[in-house]
Amino acid sequence: MNKAFIEEMATRLQSERESLTKELSSFTVKDSKAKVADYTTKFEEYGDDEDENASEVADYSNKLSLESALEKEVRDIDSAIIRIKEGSYGICKYCNTEINEDRLRARPTSTSCIACKKTLTQEV
Ligand SMILES: [Zn+2]
Repeated sequence: MNKAFIEEMATRLQSERESLTKELSSFTVKDSKAKVADYTTKFEEYGDDEDENASEVADYSNKLSLESALEKEVRDIDSAIIRIKEGSYGICKYCNTEINEDRLRARPTSTSCIACKKTLTQEV
């Protein structure tokens, strides 16, 4: 894997991480003691009317699903950054060959090559 490409991916991962955590910080509180990225959605009170209570709950549940989706992305990015540091970035975790650069450009957090991914998806 060439160095320039890995640096390009590292920069993209960092900036993606920044925008994700920025979005998360608008409606969650970060657990600073957790070892992995861990966020808790804030419950916002709109008022005491029945419809206000209903929208509080609806918004909260939407935010919860957004939280878990974003949190998962941040965790994937964090493990990709760790792989870059360890020198194992871009290597398929199943067959140990280099993952295609186009695939990594499309999805910088990929951990498997297209061939292995296909085999896995067909098995399901
Ligand atoms: Zn593979």
